[in-house]
This record gives sequence, C-alpha cells and structure tokens, in this order.
Amino acid sequence: MTSASGMATCPNCDGNNEITDPRMNPTSAVVTKACPSCDGSGRVAEPRAGWSKCPACGGWGTLGDNEPDEPTVDCVKCHGAGIVPPAEARQAA
Ligand SMILES: [Zn+2]
Ligand SMILES: [Zn+2]
Repeated sequence: MTSASGMATCPNCDGNNEITDPRMNPTSAVVTKACPSCDGSGRVAEPRAGWSKCPACGGWGTLGDNEPDEPTVDCVKCHGAGIVPPAEARQAA
C-alpha cells in the first residue's frame, strides 16, 4: 500500500468506504453506510491508521438507532468518528 501525502488506509472500513452495522442480527438485512471515520473516502490522516474500531459502537459511530423510533446519537466514546486511539480501545467500554 502506497501512502500518499500523510494519508493511510482507514482502519474502520479497511479502505472500502463503507461499513456494515456491527449490531446487525442474523435475521436482519445487511445495513451499510458511508464510513464515519474517513467520510467515505477510505483514507484517514496517517496518525489515525493505528487507531482501533470504537469498542462502544463497533465502528458505527452512532448509538440508539437500533429501534426505528429511537433517536440517533453520536457515540459518546468516539464522538461519532467510529475509531479511537489504541489507548482508549484498551480500556474497553
Ligand atoms: Zn473508513
Ligand atoms: Zn463509538
């Protein structure tokens, strides 16, 4: 993987630009959305390449939207980014 000007492959979507809902259950349809960590670009600033998927939201970036009438709120741990620094990922939710 070549790294252009300080950018690296997004650790949340692995450069796929979108992510799958980690809370998906086996009977539900696959839910995907543009990756919140890289805004769907597949690349993040290089320092973030070593970050981990947020243990609280599984990289989805939001919480509380698993029920249709529940409001969507940004994950309090990653603030909607879907990824956290390694130190924060270790102190699990
Ligand atoms: Zn991404
Ligand atoms: Zn989170």
